Amino acid sequence: MSKLLINGHWVDGESVQVLKDKYHEKEYGQMAVASVQQVIEAVDGALKGFESNQLSPYDRYQILMQASRLTKERIHILSELMKNEAGFTMPDAENEVRRCVQTLELSAEAAKHLNGELIPMEVASGMKNRIGYTIRMPRGVICAITPFNSPLNTVAHKVGPALAGGNAVILKPSEITPLTSVELFKILIEAGLPSSLLALVNGSGETIGRQLLLDQRIAYYAFTGSTRVGLEIQKAAGLRGLQLELGSIASTIVCHDADIDMAIPKIINAGFRKAGQVCTSVQKLLVDRRISATLIPKLIAAAKAAKAGDPSDRATIIGPIISHAHAMRAMSFVKEAIESGAQLLSGGTCVGNVMEPTILINVKDDMRVYCEEIFAPVISILEFDHIDEAVMRANDSPFGLAVGLFTSNLSTAFQTARRLRFGGIHINEASSARADVMPFGGVKNSGFGREGPAYATREMTEERLITIAY
Ligand code: NAD
Repeated sequence: MSKLLINGHWVDGESVQVLKDKYHEKEYGQMAVASVQQVIEAVDGALKGFESNQLSPYDRYQILMQASRLTKERIHILSELMKNEAGFTMPDAENEVRRCVQTLELSAEAAKHLNGELIPMEVASGMKNRIGYTIRMPRGVICAITPFNSPLNTVAHKVGPALAGGNAVILKPSEITPLTSVELFKILIEAGLPSSLLALVNGSGETIGRQLLLDQRIAYYAFTGSTRVGLEIQKAAGLRGLQLELGSIASTIVCHDADIDMAIPKIINAGFRKAGQVCTSVQKLLVDRRISATLIPKLIAAAKAAKAGDPSDRATIIGPIISHAHAMRAMSFVKEAIESGAQLLSGGTCVGNVMEPTILINVKDDMRVYCEEIFAPVISILEFDHIDEAVMRANDSPFGLAVGLFTSNLSTAFQTARRLRFGGIHINEASSARADVMPFGGVKNSGFGREGPAYATREMTEERLITIAY
């Protein structure tokens, strides 16, 4: 059974929740659920830990590097756990571990490179014999609240930079996938991190999440999840610091001059990996009408070849959706689209919670597959006659996280990139072409602030200016 980490000790919660795997729905573990009082105590402990443990940047570097090495060694345990709790296929689970190894390593590097700057005071009139410089100081207790669809690497993207910046962290992972975080926290402690710098509380967003929002001792919130919850966090945070990585409807554009054979595997991977439950999954695929007769049959063939089913089977590409309710929601979007005139090119069925990779065409603007985040393995193809139309359709969304653009024309690439209103624009990649080193985040309703350890570490520290007259 899992425990909570409060005041540097692993303790029982006030109740226990049984956890079932997402394919067979058999029990694989139990989650200790915190009480509201335990959340208050956990913040107390993190604050005391922060005040009594000031690790040097070099110590932080060493601990995070060691945590990265230990994570690499534990790939099998962590992958098996994510297969159960998130329904990830083994390739998806192993990829999540490999990325977490990198995220921790990048966080270690960020601890070393957290610099201020020298201010050239004397260039201003009357400032002779004065120097100035900035330093970056930890904020205090950082609260990380994370979603189900990346139970390891998204947690590492919050916890790693927070520790790199010299803070203490309190984590509330998704109640759907809580045990992976427990393993990560054990690794950090084993790597040498004083346990009082970490706190872990489990439970629902409505009780445990809301209690964390009420606690004014928390200095900063690092949140990844839905736009609905993000709005609530922003209201509660007030003047405190905040990073919001929220919902998305990602598009990928394929121009007439694109290398189709290079594009198709990238689109298939970006549309269907993790059963489409990635914030940057291709939901709208915009295809130049001049190449659709060539591209579409190849895309359908690749989708049909992608095996959906049991995530324990190494040949499986698409595992189960996180819950029956989530699967039925996605299926209702597809059914409604077909009833309103969309054409089903592939998939469209669901066995248990496993949805076949689904491709639709003739989709209209008012269908939910077009205008709401689906979070399932469903790609809607929209054909265009001119690049202006593709740009308009990609931008036609309240969200703006990531977009892909395939073209072999440099002018098209450079010019179109400037017109796409997204946090990340990937040329000759699909929308989900993320590397953990890059600044990652959205515009519009996809949130603000940037992940990527070098960037997040800066956001999780505060800048102070020191001037000296001599
Ligand atoms: P969610 O918003 O339902 O839950 C996320 C976390 O917030 C969970 O830990 C949950 O318990 C907590 N929470 C829920 N209500 C809360 C409240 N009132 N107060 C405080 N905490 C609360 O999201 P989810 O279903 O777990 O994840 C899917 C969503 O996450 C999708 O919308 C997806 O696009 C988004 N996402 C975004 C990114 C990104 O980088 N932009 C990455 C991954 C997922």
